[in-house]
Amino acid sequence: MKIAILSRNKKLYSTRRLVEAGKLRGHEMHVIDTLKCNMEITSVKPAVWYKGEELVGFDAVIPRIGASITNYGMAIIRQFEMMGVYCLTESNALGRSRDKLRALQLLSRKGIGMPKTGFAHHVDNTKELIKRVGGAPLVVKLLAGTQGRGVVLAETAKAGESVIDAFRELEADFLVQEFIKEAGGSDIRCLVIGKKVVAAMERTAQAGEFRSNLHRGGTARLIKLSPKERKTAIDASSILGLNISGVDILRSERGPLVMEVNSSPGLEGIEKATNKDVADAIIEYVELNAKPHHNRTKGK
Ligand code: ADP
Ligand code: GLU
Repeated sequence: MKIAILSRNKKLYSTRRLVEAGKLRGHEMHVIDTLKCNMEITSVKPAVWYKGEELVGFDAVIPRIGASITNYGMAIIRQFEMMGVYCLTESNALGRSRDKLRALQLLSRKGIGMPKTGFAHHVDNTKELIKRVGGAPLVVKLLAGTQGRGVVLAETAKAGESVIDAFRELEADFLVQEFIKEAGGSDIRCLVIGKKVVAAMERTAQAGEFRSNLHRGGTARLIKLSPKERKTAIDASSILGLNISGVDILRSERGPLVMEVNSSPGLEGIEKATNKDVADAIIEYVELNAKPHHNRTKGK
């Protein structure tokens, strides 16, 4: 197969691993810088151009779109979809997962467990918003944040009010969330491909920190999931329409709670912690599913 990986940098671990796994399975692998793609939007024959050449003959596209270029990335994926090329991550699914609020709304409608979450753009009454998620301690999150940046634990309602007022002053979108204390500074990353969890790790925050992100000094180890956790991760991924995702779960007294579904999950942390060949599993999934005109979310 001729497979394109949409990635800004071919040196990134995840990109390198996908190229390697694809070649090992006998495929022709191309790394395409998403931002250097141009689109030609004409009637009848949509096309994507890259460095002066039209991209033709691709059987599949594996998008690895960074959060900062979500919109342009979605447009490029959509263009491939219009051309009938199979895209592992569909444009609409990427959009659903990147909009944290939209994702939580879709998941809650289907009964997926999640921390109690409040959102407001303009609230005159900050105290009311805090009360709605059960009071302090509570977590305040910037919607635009990644890697744990912009995630704040407020131990008291007073501290919560100050953080909310500060975010509001900056005109930043944020959400307010119940703090899941019993998670004890750990969360679970489930790497879901299709209807399977192919690897799962527990990440634990360093001492004095509640955020378990590896970028914040957290450590990771292989973990065995309960059947309920496995089902929650698979359901969350498929509700958003993702064929591959990293589902972040908190273990709580009332069962698994989904915090976030990542549509371009990093491979380095999870492959190293679990010793699983996730890249190979991704290519295998593409082999089994890539058929022309096979995207469910194409516009009509
Ligand atoms: P990001 O998407 O920037 O990584 P997250 O929402 O995943 O932000 O939060 C970062 C970390 O903070 C999580 O991995 C988890 O360890 C911790 N955390 C986030 N929300 C909560 C919560 N409601 N209760 C307890 N811990 C939380
Ligand atoms: N690569 C990041 C992760 O796995 C975020 C991906 C995304 O925003 O979809 O946590």
